Amino acid sequence: MGKLLEIEANSTPTTELRIGIELGLQPHLASRHKDLIEKLPIDYTIGSIHTVNHKDPYYDYYFEGRNAKDSYKEYFECVLENLEAFSDIDSLGHLDYVVRYGKRHFGDNEGACPLSDHKEIIEGIYKFIINHEIALEVNTGAYRTGLTEPNPSFEFLKFYKECGGKLITIGADAHKPEHVGLHFEKIAHELTSIGFNEYAIYKQHKAEMMTL
Ligand SMILES: [Zn+2]
Repeated sequence: MGKLLEIEANSTPTTELRIGIELGLQPHLASRHKDLIEKLPIDYTIGSIHTVNHKDPYYDYYFEGRNAKDSYKEYFECVLENLEAFSDIDSLGHLDYVVRYGKRHFGDNEGACPLSDHKEIIEGIYKFIINHEIALEVNTGAYRTGLTEPNPSFEFLKFYKECGGKLITIGADAHKPEHVGLHFEKIAHELTSIGFNEYAIYKQHKAEMMTL
């Protein structure tokens, strides 16, 4: 045991492990999240919206009795409301997450989410995160569920760039070890074709820029 410890102490680490957390934002949780971030030695915080006014869009009831546009509108308004309540995050997670489940409920056509339906609110969200130096997460988890675009969609990502957004992070939404980094090469290619050249990783909440 003594010998093993000696070897470990003298060897050069090849992997640096950083700690990240994804917070499911809800306005009434803002002060709890603030305490948590201050207490824990976290390098990177993603803030995501999974619950909209106490409703969960993972389930069909969220969409019932209304169309996709109205369902998505409530989600995006909730994103901005959450950011205004709590902005101590490094990256905004999967901005159009609701579309994953909207497409499952309505189908690909009826469940589409054209930017023109929500341009004003999305611009408001982008202005907020750019002003607060919060990155926009590009999440490849949607590819695993059979969708052909990341979250947010390419149209939303292009608009982020048009609004002056430069800071992006890339996440796989991995819930299993084999999903870590899945589709990163593909997304790097897509992002460079939109005009992004770099992405951020974080250490103690400070962005370090990496070439795509
Ligand atoms: Zn999430």
